[in-house]
Amino acid sequence: MKFKDYKYVRPNIDEICKVTEEVTEIIKNATNTNVIVDAIKRLNKMNSTYSTLSNLAFIRNSIDTTDEFYEKEIDYLNEEGVKASSKANELTKVLVNHPLRKELEEIYGSYWFKTMELSLKCFDDCIMEDLVTESKLSIQYDKLMASAKIEFDGKINNLAQMRVYTSSVDRNTRIEAFKKVNEFLLQNSDEIDDIYDKLVKTRHNIALKLGYENYIDLGYAKMGRTDYDAKMVESYRKQVLECVVPVAHNIFKENAKRIGVEDFKYYDTSLMFLDGNPTPKGTKDELVKQALKMYTEMSPETKEFFEFMTEHELLDLESKPGKANGGYCTYIPDYTSPFIFANFNGTSGDVDVLTHEAGHALMAYCSKDTIENPDLLWPTSEACEIHSMSMEFFAYPWMENFFKEDTKKYYVYHMSGAITFIPYGVCVDHFQHLVYANPNATPAERRQMWSDLEKMYTPWRNMEGLEAYEQGMLWFQQGHIFSSPFYYIDYTLAQVCALEFYLDSLEDKEDAFNRYLQLCKLGGSKSFLELIAEVGINNPFIDGSIKKIIDKLLPVIDSIKL
Ligand code: ZN
Repeated sequence: MKFKDYKYVRPNIDEICKVTEEVTEIIKNATNTNVIVDAIKRLNKMNSTYSTLSNLAFIRNSIDTTDEFYEKEIDYLNEEGVKASSKANELTKVLVNHPLRKELEEIYGSYWFKTMELSLKCFDDCIMEDLVTESKLSIQYDKLMASAKIEFDGKINNLAQMRVYTSSVDRNTRIEAFKKVNEFLLQNSDEIDDIYDKLVKTRHNIALKLGYENYIDLGYAKMGRTDYDAKMVESYRKQVLECVVPVAHNIFKENAKRIGVEDFKYYDTSLMFLDGNPTPKGTKDELVKQALKMYTEMSPETKEFFEFMTEHELLDLESKPGKANGGYCTYIPDYTSPFIFANFNGTSGDVDVLTHEAGHALMAYCSKDTIENPDLLWPTSEACEIHSMSMEFFAYPWMENFFKEDTKKYYVYHMSGAITFIPYGVCVDHFQHLVYANPNATPAERRQMWSDLEKMYTPWRNMEGLEAYEQGMLWFQQGHIFSSPFYYIDYTLAQVCALEFYLDSLEDKEDAFNRYLQLCKLGGSKSFLELIAEVGINNPFIDGSIKKIIDKLLPVIDSIKL
């Protein structure tokens, strides 16, 4: 059966609530674990069907946002789904406080109980209204950013479309394009400041209501972090500052030399090669064919996985009118089908979809046989991004098939990006810690915080000529800061782990790949630090771990120089 034939019917949310209530009662009164195991099985089956249907609606809505049917279904699921969440919350309370918890932990593992405990600390009926406010503000931000209509090159462009020009090989085009983007930010700065100010205050308020001192610990709990805290992240950021920032700075110095610019400015950072950044060669279908060849050669597991993806048509890759922006990977449990959504645009990002998103999809596909509990399918996001970011590196030996004459350029481009991203990601994280520790700071004070951090973590950035960025507004374009607080550090942690997998693969390819597959099969059954320990990846929070990776990486970076 192909994706288009996967059947959608509207889930009966009243029925779901009723069953959840029944199961809750059964578990509450259970005096032996067998009864509970059966009840949970019944619940898992129902939840898996719900997740299947809601994901089908979500995917089909994003493929064609003009389709009114799925638009209405999404509205229904959003509105009514709240009821089901509230019932699920009651069940969680019963499980966490159950007299047989010890025995249940032996069956299901203690990690599941820890995550449930954490989720209880993130919710209470008294914050319902604040959550609605928070979500409305997030949507307001998205809409405002999506509303950008920038006249350039005789066309009307949105912010994403402006990227073609901000990375143009022609310096004047880059400057003018960045200036236009800056104009948009300046024109809307009051509204963006206002949205963020309200978001911060709303979140702070929620944290106080739930008994936290501020939003930081709540933000960590919402990210499901059971084994590291803000102090550990702080010392990790220090390691990045000491060990990664100088290497990233050097990469940009090389970059300036390569493109022949002496007064290297921010608007030069997006261009790495005078003859343009590397691009994949071939149509969408040809790239997918190359991906199939790559996964066939990589391992029996990846072969089976990617054949499944193509046979069931689980990739929607080309840009089409009415299609939502961006890209994602999700999972349709009843059909054991991952799904990859993207908007190909002829850049190297297209190949990243076939490696990065495919890494996510491979994890979902692998854990179908190993993970029964839908709560434990996906791990926390820093672990999720290891699956995807590591695959970008494991795919290196096949890049010639995608990039042909641009292959060497791709290696420089990708490796440079992987490293220089880390300081920026850490900067975004540090900023949010300052913001939520000082919820009453004014917008001007926030911009100052950002500018100070920017100088510290990304000293190569010279914002001269770009007024909005000079005034500390670059983060206005970083959506995570608005809609997913504290998410950003996850990408950097995963990047560090992925780099370690890559270095390991240079020494023993098979061993590194097998450990990677093992990580995929573990799904979300353990916490981040437990997962990486299990597959022999170092704990990035331990002082000295980043230096170790960077020291090993330096000769590799040298070897792939053009
Ligand atoms: Zn990802």
